[in-house]
Amino acid sequence: MGGNSAKSGGGMWLPDNPLMRADRVGDSREEALAYLAATVGDEGRAGSRARQEAFVDGVADFVDTARRHGMTFVRAPEYADYYPERPGGKIGRGVEHTPFDVRRIGAWWKTSQAPAALPVLTDDVWLLGRAWSTPSGFRRGARLVLRALAGVLTGKKLAGIGAGLTASFLRTVVIDNDTELWLNSPLEDLVVEDGRVVGARVAHDGGTLAIGARRGVMLAGGGFDANKEWRRRYHGIDGNPSGAPGNLGRPIEIAVAAGAAVELMDDAWWGASVAPTSVSEPSFLVGERSFPYTVIVDERGDRFANESESYVDLGHHMLEHGRLGTYWMISDRRHARRYLRSYAMDPKAGKAMRREGVMFQAPTPAELAVAIGVDPDRLTATVGRFNGFARAGVNGDFGRGNSAYDRYYSDPLVRPNPNLGPLEKGPFTAVKIVIGDLGTKGGVVTDGDGRALREDGSVIEGLYAAGNNSAAVMGRTYPGPGSTIGPAVVFGMRAARHMARCQAEDVS
Ligand SMILES: Cc1cc2nc3c(=O)[nH]c(=O)nc-3n(C[C@H](O)[C@H](O)[C@H](O)COP(=O)(O)OP(=O)(O)OC[C@H]3O[C@@H](n4cnc5c(N)ncnc54)[C@H](O)[C@@H]3O)c2cc1C
Repeated sequence: MGGNSAKSGGGMWLPDNPLMRADRVGDSREEALAYLAATVGDEGRAGSRARQEAFVDGVADFVDTARRHGMTFVRAPEYADYYPERPGGKIGRGVEHTPFDVRRIGAWWKTSQAPAALPVLTDDVWLLGRAWSTPSGFRRGARLVLRALAGVLTGKKLAGIGAGLTASFLRTVVIDNDTELWLNSPLEDLVVEDGRVVGARVAHDGGTLAIGARRGVMLAGGGFDANKEWRRRYHGIDGNPSGAPGNLGRPIEIAVAAGAAVELMDDAWWGASVAPTSVSEPSFLVGERSFPYTVIVDERGDRFANESESYVDLGHHMLEHGRLGTYWMISDRRHARRYLRSYAMDPKAGKAMRREGVMFQAPTPAELAVAIGVDPDRLTATVGRFNGFARAGVNGDFGRGNSAYDRYYSDPLVRPNPNLGPLEKGPFTAVKIVIGDLGTKGGVVTDGDGRALREDGSVIEGLYAAGNNSAAVMGRTYPGPGSTIGPAVVFGMRAARHMARCQAEDVS
């Protein structure tokens, strides 16, 4: 249960949302649309201005409806839009569920794909990254421990982020409404009559059932993260997904067979991940690469991008720079000592990384270069040049640390630029980096109500899609924290409203 959403950070980018209004944080429809125009642009049918408007206009309905049904949200007040300096850019548009007691979903919790139940909030993540090196990080760590203890003392098993969000959805939509939910029952086909989708064929209990749908069929079967053949065909690489293994794109294929158009198949919610090992999945990097005392280089030993930029931008830069290239994150001793490195927390994974050529250590950059097969003079020169920028506080090559987004994942105690720290204290570490992703972006083209469209723009009556099953309204970019789940819940809500408005027609 839960798919990528359960494994995720659970953040939802919801501009001009009711929580901002209650907190008197200024935002407006106009600013939200100006920001989308400045980031997404007018990107095909999926990311058209009309769909952007439908998204922004649907935010309040989703938040208010979910809250009326008992879901509770908070903002991530410190998380910046990913291009906050562009017109309409803001800090604090991200929304997430408050830590949720997963005991409230009973045995369903055991089926969740969430890795753990921890009462973590989004703004905890960047502060925890430096929990033992800065007072604000330490305070945040202490608050998290207290929150977890309070949960234990009150007999609750509190989960934040994607674990809590999906558990709360399950409680609200399935349990409280007596909705039937079947696991291990994949969609196999759609039932189409006179061009209208009137049902779905589903594998269940060793057979196939045809289920009638009076108002419509909603496709929410995710992207094609784990479908290597499609990844090679559309992306030119096998992919290193961090998402759920069950996302193979079959529901996209089924929609295409029913006449749906697709878009953005060549794109994904890219990022940089630590290479997988025999015991660990690709580890998606967010804060670690942005903190001081580290750089990312290619196989020649050259930097090629701002390591602190948004993950989608870094992923795109890696693809442009060398789709099949080898990349290394190089850091000095202080990076290892001061900051939480998610990929180094499991000792078993750490051993495998060393054994399988994913992590190396050496006393100097030159010796490290030899270990990873990079020209030692070139890596030494790259580190020397970067150290000059770090001391000056200005990254002359890629502008690292210039944006408020970069500085969200930084160390305020490092001056003059909190994203730049010179790599000068050994031992130095190299970690192999691959082009990773949080899911794929390509899927069914839908309108503002989530209705599937044909290539000629006509609507396939009775067929809806949302989330990564549909082509992303965010086009080729990632405007702010939660840019995949935000639109997923809003278009899911809009599609449900549209179905509810349709004349009920019993075809079962
Ligand atoms: C580590 C991580 C952190 C992330 N953090 C965030 C974040 O904070 N904010 C954000 O916006 N995004 C985040 N993402 C991305 C986000 O999780 C996904 O983009 C989003 O969850 C996709 O939602 P979805 O409903 O489309 O698909 P999913 O949540 O993946 O759900 C799809 C479901 O469909 C099922 N399915 C597949 N095929 C079939 C079939 N034939 N029949 C029936 N069911 C089928 C799958 O098994 C799965 O359960 C993160 C991703 C990861 C991996």
